[in-house]
Amino acid sequence: MATHKKPAKWRARTEAVRGGQTRTGFQETAEALFITSGYAYESPEEAEGRFTGTHPGFMYTRYGNPTTAMFEARIAAMEGAPVARATSSGMAAVTAVFLSSLKVGDHVVAAKAMFGACRYVIENLLSRFGITSTIVDGSDPQAWANAIRPETKFFFLETPANPTLAIVDMKAVAKIADEAGILLVVDNAFASPVLQRPMDFGAHIVIHSSTKYIDGQGRCLGGVILCKEDFLNTHLQTFLRNTGPAPSPFNSWVHLKSLETLGIRMAAHCENALKVADFLAQARGVTRVLYPFRDDHPQSALARAQMKGGGGVVTFEIKGGKRAAFDFINALEMIDISNNLGDTKSIITHPATTTHQRMSSEARADLGISDGMIRFSAGLEDPADICDDLARALARL
Ligand SMILES: *Cc1c(COP(=O)(O)O)cnc(C)c1O
Repeated sequence: MATHKKPAKWRARTEAVRGGQTRTGFQETAEALFITSGYAYESPEEAEGRFTGTHPGFMYTRYGNPTTAMFEARIAAMEGAPVARATSSGMAAVTAVFLSSLKVGDHVVAAKAMFGACRYVIENLLSRFGITSTIVDGSDPQAWANAIRPETKFFFLETPANPTLAIVDMKAVAKIADEAGILLVVDNAFASPVLQRPMDFGAHIVIHSSTKYIDGQGRCLGGVILCKEDFLNTHLQTFLRNTGPAPSPFNSWVHLKSLETLGIRMAAHCENALKVADFLAQARGVTRVLYPFRDDHPQSALARAQMKGGGGVVTFEIKGGKRAAFDFINALEMIDISNNLGDTKSIITHPATTTHQRMSSEARADLGISDGMIRFSAGLEDPADICDDLARALARL
């Protein structure tokens, strides 16, 4: 395999299209899909060399695969990260970061506005292995500082958070983490590397669910861990090789090719989401609209400082609680009811009864998730058709 000739530095859009590409002897223009679990060696001497590390090369797809390696190199370039490792899902990435490096007695601090499965991993799974956690209001930097213990190893946060689109000041939290020798882990699934690069604000580790905007067309699950060489070599590499959350090469290939269009897709998602947010803000029956790049978002200045666009998700509240929210959703004709997001197709979900259903009503209230709250993921349809569908459903209430 020949590595693509590459100048010292490409601009971000070029990295998204060409970063990390290697070509076989056929000089294929599109990246090759290597569906193989193993790799043959010329001789037992070569096999021995691969295992001892003196001969570079692939050994087994649980350890690495040429298609997956292209995806990892490309997204690392886009995030400005030293190294990346792909996993079978976003949750496999989150779990691997924690379980590869934490041990009994360690402590994690996490922002309360968190993806439900991340909350399970931190609060239910880690606690079974003697790893404790403190959940804080992520928007308050002092809360992070106050939660630190001598055994704190990680800060974990998501910004913008699901579904309230609350923003966390990454620079402020990273500074507190650095002073205490703690690693800041940021789940960047909602923004994607096109809108936000957490390492530019001091994050040490970035996690993605590439299932969302990176795939962008609702096809394959995938996850990514971006980190420095030190964390990879000390903790992650050995854990990934031996526990096996490796992605299918096919899924890696889909997400590798998807990175090429991520920039233009995110711009269109943001444009449609802002149009929907502006439409909803003046619509009758809608009591509240949350969108990071609207001036009425409580943290819009911070969002603009960290992000290049407001993202594809709009959260809003309907007057009349759960019954009105359900009536509204039932009256939609085009927008799909699904708990996924980041698809070309516009999607709507009622967080209180789906993604956040397992939480107590007090915990939901504490996060600002009301019974009338609806999460909308803007697709790439004509925004006028999206707004027509929303308007028609609102008119039926
Ligand atoms: C979807 C999602 C995850 C989990 O990713 P999967 O690919 O579904 O495992 C984690 N964090 C956030 C913010 C997500 O939206």
